[in-house]
Amino acid sequence: MSEMLSQQEVLDRFHARLGASGLKSTQQRDVIVARFFELGRHISVEELLEEVRRTAPRIGYATVYRTLKLLVEHRFATPRQFGDGQTRFDPADGDDDEHDHIICLGCRRVLEFSDPTITARIQGVVAAQGEFELARQRLELYVHCKTEACPHLAAATHR
Ligand SMILES: [Zn+2]
Ligand SMILES: [Zn+2]
Repeated sequence: MSEMLSQQEVLDRFHARLGASGLKSTQQRDVIVARFFELGRHISVEELLEEVRRTAPRIGYATVYRTLKLLVEHRFATPRQFGDGQTRFDPADGDDDEHDHIICLGCRRVLEFSDPTITARIQGVVAAQGEFELARQRLELYVHCKTEACPHLAAATHR
């Protein structure tokens, strides 16, 4: 997510965008959205549900799911698949927010990066194939991290 905007600014932006499409925010929806941006990481529906239930135990799975869907529709979240069959939602600021990911196969830690040099090279590769122009780039680099706590040795055997 862009570091130019604060969490509150992103929330305000989201509310403004909802209002523009004739939608009202609800109290439950606000709790979910605020927590999602506060956590600021790639999170599954189940994980976010667990988080919001700490303060709002009556919120259900369907509400969390629908709220994330709404965020995706308005470009405040991007669904990501990192090769383990789970969909995770990545906070975004309502604009085209392109960044790439490094995923540890051992502990499933996800890091974000964005490198204009790599993008420029990819644009070159695409252009060299013919009359193409790069529309979107999504890089996922799968790694074994070297932290002591990471069970990467066990995971490395079954990739
Ligand atoms: Zn991300
Ligand atoms: Zn790791």
